[in-house]
Amino acid sequence: MAEVQLDFLGDLRRTHSCGTLRSSDTGKTALLMGWVHRRRDLGGVIFIHLRDRDGITQLVFDESKNAAAHKRAQELSSEFVIAVEGLVDKRSADTVNPNIITGEVEIAVSKIWILNESRTPPFPVEDNVDVKEEVRLKYRYVDLRRPKVQKNIIMRSKVTLAIRQALYAQGFLEIETPFMTRSTPEGARDYLVPSRVAPGSFYALPQSPQIFKQLLMVSGYERYFQIVRCFRDEDLRAARQPEFTQIDLEMSFPQEEQIYEVIEPLVQGVVAAAGKKMDAKIPRITFADAILSYGSDKPDLRLPPFYCVQDLFEGTDFKTEGLPLVAIHIPKTGVISRKERDEIKAIGQEKGLRIFDDLKRLERDYPAQMEKVRERVKAAEDDLVIIAGSAKPLEGALANRRVLELCGQMRVLLAQKYNDRHKLLDPEDLRFLWVVEFPMFEWDEEDKRWNAAHHPFTSVHDGDFDKLTSDPANCRAKSYDLVLNGVELGSGSIRIHRRDIQTKVFAALGFSEDEAKRRFGFLLEALEYGAPPHGGIALGLDRLVMLLAGETSIREVIAFPKTAKGTDLMCEAPSTVPDRQLRELGIRLNIPNS
Ligand code: ASP
Repeated sequence: MAEVQLDFLGDLRRTHSCGTLRSSDTGKTALLMGWVHRRRDLGGVIFIHLRDRDGITQLVFDESKNAAAHKRAQELSSEFVIAVEGLVDKRSADTVNPNIITGEVEIAVSKIWILNESRTPPFPVEDNVDVKEEVRLKYRYVDLRRPKVQKNIIMRSKVTLAIRQALYAQGFLEIETPFMTRSTPEGARDYLVPSRVAPGSFYALPQSPQIFKQLLMVSGYERYFQIVRCFRDEDLRAARQPEFTQIDLEMSFPQEEQIYEVIEPLVQGVVAAAGKKMDAKIPRITFADAILSYGSDKPDLRLPPFYCVQDLFEGTDFKTEGLPLVAIHIPKTGVISRKERDEIKAIGQEKGLRIFDDLKRLERDYPAQMEKVRERVKAAEDDLVIIAGSAKPLEGALANRRVLELCGQMRVLLAQKYNDRHKLLDPEDLRFLWVVEFPMFEWDEEDKRWNAAHHPFTSVHDGDFDKLTSDPANCRAKSYDLVLNGVELGSGSIRIHRRDIQTKVFAALGFSEDEAKRRFGFLLEALEYGAPPHGGIALGLDRLVMLLAGETSIREVIAFPKTAKGTDLMCEAPSTVPDRQLRELGIRLNIPNS
């Protein structure tokens, strides 16, 4: 770095931030501090854009008025940290800058203190620069200065405050639960922390505070919440991080309805805090209907549903393999070229679907049926309608669902493909949805067993208790998801509060008495000490803020995220540790050569 003489802060105090001065402040003396955002040297006059969290203010160093300050300003470069004092001047009409909030004024600098210099930043502190994510993450402290990232982080803070306000207003207590604990029931891999004092023993970092929050209900706290970090060692995708934040809550004596009544004002508060809009009520759909109409348990309501139409072709020679034939409808795509139709077919084929894209031909061969199809999907002239079915016969109880899910994926892919023609997937259009009555179990094809679809503490739907063992595929749970624009924001359920029922559900899940005791013995025991009916939910804060900020990766709304591979490029974590530390923990490494 160039040698620049630095000044001490001494007893200097800011009088204003860089976003506050307006023309009504003209004539005041202001002392500002911040970063050199931009510098324009016109010889006798130097203009500096000074930046802090609140905004940008223009500084003027005029050699003819203050030669000493002007001289020092010549030493400044991007991202130097300075303090300046001067008079607030109203700018002439032709020099007003409408792009910055303080654009009506500038500071005629009389004194300057250079508080710190800066190396040339690895990329400019601006939004529209082409910079690789790895470089951004390595220099995250610089990246966080960029306006868009800063806006996201500030939005996250406002959202977090709105959550606290909504929950405190509804009588929730904020209670912390341990990070160093034992395995929790969310079903992912645990991150382990070795114990030094008990070599060979490990804590697990919580995948969620699930058991602790249930125990807090047993303890009579009635309404708990926490904005809490959770840790899951999963294969990472764009929407995942090894550590992420949940808005976690639990209530005693709730009906499912009361959970929705708690969450809806919270969501309204959050959306308002983010400066966005949503409908007054959050609609609901059952899991079964979501699959039938959207082919997804997290439907994106910005797109119309699809419709099964095989019944309309009954008695004709239109081959359907006996599986659902689905009319997918994407509004306002306009005319689709031959080439595009081939592309659509190819996308379908890749998914294992057979696509009947040539509506003209279908209309010629099956005029009456096709008229009914159009009626059913409520398609207008310039809408795209395709008919899709399975490319090959599928077997098994879930075959229909599989086809519907593929059609659901197709529906979203098509909407993405034509999004620029008619902004169907507008990020400002916030469509929340409750998906309710999830199945209790999910079939694990690999292990050939039923797993808990949510987690093993979820109550069975009142009407389905008999199906617990006799018909697990159709056994519904008292569980629900909150979905926003096709993204699952979180799940919750009414819990099992009786030991006898919990034992039955563990048995249905194939846990032996011993295994259940070993893993969750303390919870089972707690259920015997006056556990009240209880239930709750956890929402992903990162995803929520991501969608409110119109981003597509949660890394954009986390101050210090990890890469998709789980590494922190800035601190270089994970890292190796000295042998001595391993010895103390009684750990010897045995890493297979890759
Ligand atoms: N602990 C659950 C989860 O992380 C949420 C809940 O059931 O409250 O998905």
